[in-house]
Amino acid sequence: MATAYLEEVNPWEAQVARSDLAAKKLKLDDGLWKILRAPSREVIVHIPVQLDDGSLETFTGFRVQHSTARGPAKGGVRYSPNVTLDETRALASWMTWKCAVVNIPFGGAAGGVICDPDRMSKRELERLTRRYTAELMELLGPEKDVLGPDINTDEQIMAWIMDTYSMHVRHTVTAVVTGKPLELGGSHGRAEATGRGLMIVCDEALKRLSMNRNQTRVVIQGFGNVGSNAARLMNRQGYKIIGVSTSRGGLFNKNGIDIDALSLYHELNGTVIGFPGAEETDSAHLLVTDCDILIPAAIENQITSLNADRMKAKILCEGANGPTTAEADDILSDKGVFVIPDILANSGGVTVSYFEWVQDRQGYFWLESMVNDQLAHTLRTSFAEVLAYTDTHDVSNRIAAYMLAINRVSYTLRQRGIYA
Ligand code: NAD
Repeated sequence: MATAYLEEVNPWEAQVARSDLAAKKLKLDDGLWKILRAPSREVIVHIPVQLDDGSLETFTGFRVQHSTARGPAKGGVRYSPNVTLDETRALASWMTWKCAVVNIPFGGAAGGVICDPDRMSKRELERLTRRYTAELMELLGPEKDVLGPDINTDEQIMAWIMDTYSMHVRHTVTAVVTGKPLELGGSHGRAEATGRGLMIVCDEALKRLSMNRNQTRVVIQGFGNVGSNAARLMNRQGYKIIGVSTSRGGLFNKNGIDIDALSLYHELNGTVIGFPGAEETDSAHLLVTDCDILIPAAIENQITSLNADRMKAKILCEGANGPTTAEADDILSDKGVFVIPDILANSGGVTVSYFEWVQDRQGYFWLESMVNDQLAHTLRTSFAEVLAYTDTHDVSNRIAAYMLAINRVSYTLRQRGIYA
């Protein structure tokens, strides 16, 4: 895919473009918005790691805490060669807004390390993770900043973070991370929560648009935690998944892909490429393929001014954070695409992370059915609240979601006052 303009694809600029607009629509006090707009703390760490061949390497990592007004900062950790401070800032502020959209008592944070996990051994990743955690010790904790998985970080990495933190404070503290293995204080339903959440909000959108699952064709970009779980759950509920892709390419079958068979193939081969039940295609092409729902569930800046006008989906459900640029928003709006914005659509992950944190702190663990019921209740309520803003203020669903979130966070800030 050709690259859109630099200012269009900077995730921080993309976030600011939308949140500034929402703050203006809310007629928020300028001073208050200045406080809310800027991340409250940004930390850069240089992490020394001994590689398996005995040589020393230094990796750069970030942790940004955007807001702790409504509760402890909460946010993922991303491992990728493309991590930047601006991306981490954007992810941290999206977490603040996302937690406010679903009305959970967390602020927003994000972290990342510039590294290429595909070229690192498990031992090297463990050393990197432990040292990254140690460098940030003072900032972290169940009451301060709670980490979780994101691109290329999984439950094993969460377990190492939890263990390192616990070793430093001399007792086991499970609630410092979410997305942990079940045996270490994880929650039932967390692994598939983001994908399940996507299905719940798609169901709500179908109701609004008088569509039904059985006639709904879905294309999903990304087959990692978010994309593969969304594909599996939605397929079982009757949606027809006609396209999926990963960074190595895509698959298409107009009659629907057998997602259970594809998941097994992916598990055995580490790729979707070569799967016999579909034809190969490229990921960029899938974004503009004829379908009813498009779910970008990979990385930022996939729907831009360069391809938005060719997009054919009626519903864009944003599994990834920031998959659509601000310029593309206007094009989608003119085309009448029903957008379920990232800060609502993919909030199932942080919602169940909140449930995990609650369970860890109570030492009482819920049945999976309770997790799923509470998740569905939270997302349906939030969907209705966002849509009420859309209708009342005559704005897009995205700006409505930002308005709802900013309103909630600014209310808290006003009530707390400014400590000086
Ligand atoms: P992951 O690392 O498990 O999977 C990422 C997937 O995207 C992989 O299949 C990868 O091959 C694919 N991908 C990368 N570049 C691609 C490209 N150019 N074209 C097609 N596919 C590509 O990551 P994840 O946890 O599934 O996260 C995906 C997105 O969802 C990220 O934006 C993340 O911030 C967001 N998100 C994740 C969670 C969560 O709970 N994991 C929650 C909310 C939002």
